[in-house]
Amino acid sequence: MAKRALLTGITGQDGAYLSQFLLSKGYEVTGIVRRSSHKGLEEHRLQWLKIDSQVRLVYGDLADLSSLLRIVQEIKPDEIYNLAAQSFVASSWDQAILTAEITGVGVVNMLEAMRLGAPKARFYQASSSEMYGKIREPMQSELTPFHPRSPYAVAKLYGHWITVNYRESFGLHASSGILFNHESPLRGIEFVTRKVTDGVARIKLGLAKELRLGNIDAKRDWGHARDYVRAMWLMLQQENADDYVVATGRTTTIRDMCKIAFDHAGLDMDKYIVIDPAFFRPAEVDVLLGNPAKAKQKLGWSPETSLEEMIVEMVDADLVRLKKLA
Ligand code: NDP
Ligand code: GDP
Repeated sequence: MAKRALLTGITGQDGAYLSQFLLSKGYEVTGIVRRSSHKGLEEHRLQWLKIDSQVRLVYGDLADLSSLLRIVQEIKPDEIYNLAAQSFVASSWDQAILTAEITGVGVVNMLEAMRLGAPKARFYQASSSEMYGKIREPMQSELTPFHPRSPYAVAKLYGHWITVNYRESFGLHASSGILFNHESPLRGIEFVTRKVTDGVARIKLGLAKELRLGNIDAKRDWGHARDYVRAMWLMLQQENADDYVVATGRTTTIRDMCKIAFDHAGLDMDKYIVIDPAFFRPAEVDVLLGNPAKAKQKLGWSPETSLEEMIVEMVDADLVRLKKLA
């Protein structure tokens, strides 16, 4: 019988790539979506990967435990991937309470639904390198102490520890993946990589004259979402649940990432980038650099896509998308 996977956040970047991956492994994939007044839009990332007709969507919300419990009891999943969140750091200062309720308390809602409705299922929590924040070690591992720097990161820290706690308290197979930034042509447009690749494509096609950015000296450890969803699945195939850092082990400034994108389009970035204080954050995470040694050793996981390959793929995808407007 086919294994059943239940995903929250299926309409997001990772939800789309993870669905594609699980379908290729023969899973039945069900995703929880929020009811919205915009019919159809919710499936656009799934449509981009041409898998929208192969997944089942059911209505529920991470804030509504009764909806989650009803769905878990009906689907009886073998694996639950909790990817839903208010996931944009910058918005978390404007919507701190909502972020706490969804990105933080939403995790215990999903864990409770599993504990009550499918306690033998395996659980993946989408934790984040943002939890390291003001870093305590130059290279962050599973043992590095956390120092969150945004309401988003504080909420993620709760999600991480409640996952660990439910594993230790109730013996649930619950794992937390501490994933460093991962991107793709399906990345939300407000995140810096996609903002840059979309901006470069717009400038190239004559649709924009400049690109306004904030702190381009910040450094991130960027990988490709397609590679990172594989690590999520690998965690749930282990006999024992655990926590893993998923990263590339290389860090790059926003400035150097921009250069890859502008160079690929044959543009001089110094002519187009405008530094705009509106995009600076109340508290910044200056640098993140992950140590993926445990994931490599225990899961046999390593990233397959370089930053250069990924940015080129994203610029090309944005050029294709935007050519229709030019
Ligand atoms: P996205 O922002 O692309 O997707 C977020 C998803 O959560 C969407 O499907 C969204 O639905 C859903 N969602 C938001 N609020 C609710 C709610 N109240 N109830 C149900 N669903 C909701 O995120 P990514 O795919 O990039 O990331 C996946 C997860 O991994 C997130 O938890 C993120 O915080 C975490 N993460 C991501 C990293 C990255 O670099 N991408 C790094 C580390 C962690 P809708 O379409 O309706 O908005
Ligand atoms: P985050 O690491 O989850 O916050 O991912 P983002 O892609 O949103 O931001 C990564 C880094 O890029 C942060 O240090 C931001 O301050 C920096 N950055 C600089 N300019 C921008 C911008 O215009 N938009 C965003 N989203 N980030 C920017």
